[in-house]
Amino acid sequence: MIRTIEAIIGEINKVKNIIVVGHIMPDGDDISSVLSLTMGLEKLNKNVRAVIDDHIPGYLEEFPFVKDKIKSYDCINKFPAELIISVDASSPDRIGRVYEHFKYARSIVIDHHATNTYFGNINWVDTYGATAQMILRLNKMLEIEYDKDISTVNLLGIATDTGFFRYSNTDATVFEDVAWLVGKGGDIGLISNMILENKPLENLKLYKDFLDVMKLEKDNTIVYSHITLDMLSKYNILPKDAPSFVGELRAIKGVEVAVTFLEAEKNVYHVSMRSKNWFDVSKVAVHFGGGGHPRAAGFSKETHDLEKLEKEVIETIKILMESYK
Ligand code: 5GP
Ligand code: MN
Repeated sequence: MIRTIEAIIGEINKVKNIIVVGHIMPDGDDISSVLSLTMGLEKLNKNVRAVIDDHIPGYLEEFPFVKDKIKSYDCINKFPAELIISVDASSPDRIGRVYEHFKYARSIVIDHHATNTYFGNINWVDTYGATAQMILRLNKMLEIEYDKDISTVNLLGIATDTGFFRYSNTDATVFEDVAWLVGKGGDIGLISNMILENKPLENLKLYKDFLDVMKLEKDNTIVYSHITLDMLSKYNILPKDAPSFVGELRAIKGVEVAVTFLEAEKNVYHVSMRSKNWFDVSKVAVHFGGGGHPRAAGFSKETHDLEKLEKEVIETIKILMESYK
């Protein structure tokens, strides 16, 4: 690991113009990793463009520095990047059109998904709970000074990807990193307020409709439900701001696998899967062309027939479940 980080530092030291790219459908860890790496590189006087080729959900857009620093695809149009660093993305399709620029620059991939396809010139793929933990290690080796701002931004991803220190990926390194960042001024109270205590009322109304179409299978060990564009528009919620209720489904007593189908664009569904104790949902995701972690994975699929897609996914889960016996 140290050798890979040293190789990454070697690449960074050689150049001035750097693109930092996060993934489509960005989450807290992605935003946190993009921002903390960008702010670190800026402290080294690098010329940095931070880009995400997708809409940023409202609750993350309001987070400090996001609007200031993370721009849409156009910002790299004429930017003479010598190096592109991709964070928290497991495959090229996850970074949208920015991947086309890999032809013209050196590339580094930093990610914590076991399903990573190693699509950079240098690939640092590790098993940390959050990619933001990897950025913290890189920044420390780059001797970046941590103040309140960068500490808070770096803490965000560790908090969100571990479900606020509750999931099985919450190992000792998570608590060590959190202690260190909080010691540097990282504001965990601000993060909890913005992420956990900031839900639009409309989301709760949508939750009621979502529960109305929920279904259970296999002695109530599999639970699934969906959100369509029609359901969203009833409450004037934009697809990019659609809440994820998959965690709520998994939390049901006796459930091992929870699945949600979100219509992100007309007839395109984002499928989110979570498991509780033993089932590897990343295998299902990879089967359908996506990826992720054993306990949290997903993929997107175009279809006119949601019911058929639901059936296919649930059947695949059931068959895989049998193979554990
Ligand atoms: P979520 O269900 O929250 O969208 O994603 C859960 C996990 O699966 C995340 O770690 C995310 O990176 C991964 N994931 C979700 N959708 C996709 C996808 O379409 N492709 C890949 N490779 N990974 C995905
Ligand atoms: Mn992540």
